[in-house]
Amino acid sequence: MADTFRRAMTAYEEVNWQYTKAAELLGIPAQHQSILRNCYRELKVQITLHRDDGRLEEYFGFRVQHNGARGPYKGGIRYHPSVDMDEVRALASLMTWKTALVNLPYGGAKGGVNCDPRSMSEKELQTLTRTFARKIDMALGPYRDIPAPDMGTNAKVMAWFMDEYGRKHGYTPAIVTGKPVPLGGSRGRESATGLGVFYVAQRACRDYGVELRGARVVVQGFGNVGSWVCRYLHDAGARIIAVGDSDGAVRNEKGLDIPALAAYVLERRTVSGFPGGDAWARERLFEVPCDILVPAALNGVITDANAPAIEAKLVVEGANNPISPHADHLLAEKGITVVPDILANAGGVTVSYFEWTQNLQQFYWEEKEVQQKLEAVMDKAYQEVSAMAKKRQVSLRRAAFMVAIQRVYEAVLLRGI
Ligand code: NAD
Repeated sequence: MADTFRRAMTAYEEVNWQYTKAAELLGIPAQHQSILRNCYRELKVQITLHRDDGRLEEYFGFRVQHNGARGPYKGGIRYHPSVDMDEVRALASLMTWKTALVNLPYGGAKGGVNCDPRSMSEKELQTLTRTFARKIDMALGPYRDIPAPDMGTNAKVMAWFMDEYGRKHGYTPAIVTGKPVPLGGSRGRESATGLGVFYVAQRACRDYGVELRGARVVVQGFGNVGSWVCRYLHDAGARIIAVGDSDGAVRNEKGLDIPALAAYVLERRTVSGFPGGDAWARERLFEVPCDILVPAALNGVITDANAPAIEAKLVVEGANNPISPHADHLLAEKGITVVPDILANAGGVTVSYFEWTQNLQQFYWEEKEVQQKLEAVMDKAYQEVSAMAKKRQVSLRRAAFMVAIQRVYEAVLLRGI
């Protein structure tokens, strides 16, 4: 079996490998499988930017709409040097399955620019964002395609995006989600992905015999997702014993003081050097034995090379596509349960959906209401995935794909292929 994975796959091939296994189990005919697998529309645009120091820089921006059978396309925008068409296709496809899994009336999309936002001034970022928004404008709309933040982007970037779209089309807050609250953002959106990860981690702990109170947790990434996961798990009594980011890692077997770490990162923009723990090599983060491991940074971080060293009971995927198919197989052989990305990190798009509905109605909810509704959505999706896994004797990932694919397939058939 392992031989089928030996050749390194691209991110899109990895997602499609998972998709195909689940579609085969559902008995979807090969031609229909192909229609659900492939992307509907792919845009690549050139972006030039005059940097503050006068240098002229060239970037490429991408927007991929994977499948729109269940509603408008929905998906984040990533700013990272590694962004390319293959990665964006993979993430767009995952969005199709994720929105279907949590039963939102959306399709799947993703976008990005291959820039390094950490090396850019606010003025440069704003110019780049406005240029990108103008160049992909023709494919967007509040009932066509609605971007959101992802790695390297945030509420401020969404505000610029909305403003640029509004210059041409008039006031349209529903064109993006993840906006600042004073500009029509939803209360509870910023913490939503982390809170959703926490809700499913709670349920997985209960089902797989892990006592959350006192559990040892390792988290990769302390950005939007990772920092909120840490806060919620910490508040529930878990011990966050190691956290890593792009600059380094920090470890404390007694448990890191998460509010202090958050305050440190706000100032220094990295966990590296945090005085409340020992410095640890970021490349060796996954070697730290734990009960719960949460990758919440990049995709493709758990591979053949480091999976054998992982000692955890549960891996809860905060990041999108963090585990290669072969590493997934190695973890399963070691008896490690993986809660897949399309379930675990669906809280972000769920509250994005709440934000969009609030924008369309121009009627806003309190944070408590957002969180209660989020928990109900995450709980239902978790139960459905669990039930499918038991019924078909498959992993949670395979089950999640099966539930999602079934829904998209039904919509595609109802529309008429
Ligand atoms: P972010 O930009 O806020 O934070 C990213 C974190 O990852 C930072 O701490 C960064 O230092 C760290 N990182 C980057 N490169 C790294 C490396 N090589 N090694 C270790 N750490 C590294 O991004 P985010 O919004 O928190 O997104 C993180 C992941 O979660 C991504 O995979 C994203 O697609 C996924 N996700 C995000 C959301 C959301 O609502 N933001 C929703 C669903 C999924």
